Amino acid sequence: MPGKEKVQIEVEISSKKLNVKHVTCPNGHQLCCDSKKIHGHPSIKLKVRYKEQDGFIYLDPIYGSYDNVEEGLSIPKGGVAEFFCPECGVSLTDHADTCQLCSSPMFVLELPKGGIVEGCLKKGCIFHKMKIVDAEQQIARSFENNTLESYL
Ligand SMILES: [Zn+2]
Ligand SMILES: [Zn+2]
Repeated sequence: MPGKEKVQIEVEISSKKLNVKHVTCPNGHQLCCDSKKIHGHPSIKLKVRYKEQDGFIYLDPIYGSYDNVEEGLSIPKGGVAEFFCPECGVSLTDHADTCQLCSSPMFVLELPKGGIVEGCLKKGCIFHKMKIVDAEQQIARSFENNTLESYL
């Protein structure tokens, strides 16, 4: 939107009502996986590396819920993994930010309208946040879930 300044807003969401449906890697690959559902919703499929092991992780698509499923490896609690796009292999580590709770690296996933979801890469750490870019600043006025849904 030329001529309009975009505002990035960090959103604190405590409820487990939001279902992340459209996330991509920085190269635009869709990461939601219809064939593996968690809580009845398509999970977010990522390639995962922990020490010398490679595998996949299916992230719980309910924002704030952590019923992730590991495949091909197992990460101990407290282990810090690394996530990659299963399509192009790009690292999803967020080089601009670290976890506010444990200082571990974080991963970042892109939302359709320029927003992002970030989460801590340490297993067992629950820190995560969502940033939404909104040209109209409507989101600043209303944090209702039905408004947020349109960003996911
Ligand atoms: Zn990709
Ligand atoms: Zn953390």
